[in-house]
Amino acid sequence: MVMYNPTRITSYPSDPIDKGFRYHFLGGGEEVGNVGCIIEDYTKSKLLFDYGLAPTKPPKYPAAAPKISDSIITHAHIDHLGMVPWLNSSHYTKLHSTAFTSSISKLMWNDCYKVSKIEGYPLAWDKRDAAESESAWNIHEYNKTNELDDWTWCLRKAGHIPGAAMIDIQTPEKKILISGDFDTRNSRLVEGAKPQKADILFMEGTYGGRNHPNRKDEENRFLREVERVVERGGTALIPSFAMGRSQDILMILQDSDLDLEIHYDGMGKTITKTMLNHKNELLNPSALEFAFGRARKVSSKSDRKKALEADVIVSTSGMLEGGPAVWYLNRLRMDNRNSVFLTGYQAEGTGGRMLLEKGRLPIFGNITPIDLEVKRFDFSTHAGHDELVNFAKECKAEDVILYHTDHKTSRPPLAKSLLELGINVHNPMNRETYVIE
Ligand SMILES: [Zn+2]
Repeated sequence: MVMYNPTRITSYPSDPIDKGFRYHFLGGGEEVGNVGCIIEDYTKSKLLFDYGLAPTKPPKYPAAAPKISDSIITHAHIDHLGMVPWLNSSHYTKLHSTAFTSSISKLMWNDCYKVSKIEGYPLAWDKRDAAESESAWNIHEYNKTNELDDWTWCLRKAGHIPGAAMIDIQTPEKKILISGDFDTRNSRLVEGAKPQKADILFMEGTYGGRNHPNRKDEENRFLREVERVVERGGTALIPSFAMGRSQDILMILQDSDLDLEIHYDGMGKTITKTMLNHKNELLNPSALEFAFGRARKVSSKSDRKKALEADVIVSTSGMLEGGPAVWYLNRLRMDNRNSVFLTGYQAEGTGGRMLLEKGRLPIFGNITPIDLEVKRFDFSTHAGHDELVNFAKECKAEDVILYHTDHKTSRPPLAKSLLELGINVHNPMNRETYVIE
C-alpha cells in the first residue's frame, strides 16, 4: 500500500531566484498523471498548476506542495485536481479554473473518496476538506485577463473535455503557455485548442510517438461494429469514462444512420446534466442535449435489468474497474452474440487491460473468463504525435518542456521531432528544479 505522507517538507526550494524563470514538478513531470508543477520567476511571482493523483492501482500522488497562494487547475480529471482538497486545507490556496471545472469538482472529489474507501487506499484529505475547497474557487472566462503579482494571465480553450483550459501567462520577460491536457482536433463535445505565441511552452506528451487514426474513419468503424452486433441480436456494452468519453459516444451513436435503443448508466448522467448547464463550453450543446434526451437513463435496479435487452449500453467505468459496466458484463457474458467495445485508454492493472490481454478479469472479486468479442477504439482527446509537433511549431516556442508523458516510451520520440525543428527541449524529472535564464 502506498502511504501518502502529507509532510510540510516539500522538495521545492525555499530561496527565491534573482534572474530567469524556474519550474519544479511535484508530479507528472516524467509520467502521465498526478500532475503538480510550481513556476516562479525573479519577480517572486509564482503559482502551482494542477494538483492531482493518478487513479492507478495503487494510486500515485505528487510530492507535497509548498505554501502557495494561488493554483490554476486546468481541468476536472482526477489526475489534475485529486489532491486539491489537501492543498486547500493545508495552505488555504486560492483555486482558479473555468466555471465547468469548478462546478464538477465536488462530484469528482466525492467519487475519488468513495473509490479510496472501496479499494482501501489512503487519502490525505477527508470529505470536510473537499467541501471547504469548494469555496476556494475563483471562476474565469476564457481569454479574459487576470493579474497575479507581476504577471498577467488568461485561460484559453484546450479541447480535451469541457472546461479544459490552457494557461497563457505574460511575465515581464517571457510569454509562457501551459497546455494542460489538450487536443487541437475538434471532438463531438469541444472545439480544438488553437496555438498561442509563446517563448516557453509546457506541453503534455501523452501520445508522443503515436498518431491517432482519422476520427471520422474510426467513428465509422465503430458504428459498423455496433450495427453488426445489433443485427445478430446482441447487445454492445460500451464501457466509457464518465467525463467526456461517454458523452462523445452518445453523440456519435445518435448522429448515425442507426436506429438504436441506447441505455446510459453511471456517473456520466450527472456530469452530462452539469455540462448542459455550461453550454458556452460545448461545441454543439443542442447535439448533446438531443443525444442525452434520446438515451434511456438507468436509475434503478429494474432499469438495469431492462437495459440487458438494449442494443447498446453506455456505462462507467471506462476501464471496467467497478461501476455498473462490470455488473452488465457479468450478465452479458453468458450470450456470445454480445460484445464489449472499449473506447479509451486501459491503464496497467485494470480490468479492461486484463480483458484485452488475457480474456478474463475480476468480477466482484473472482477472476472470470469472458468468452465475448472484445474490440478497442481510439476516441482519444489528447493530441497525437503530429498534432503535438505542429502545435509547438505554431506557438513558435524557443523552449518546450515536455511533461505528462512516459519518459521512457513517449517522450524520446517527441523530443527528437522537436529538436529537429531547432527547439530547446526540456525533459523534466519529478522533484528536480530547473531554471531557464
Ligand atoms: Zn485530462
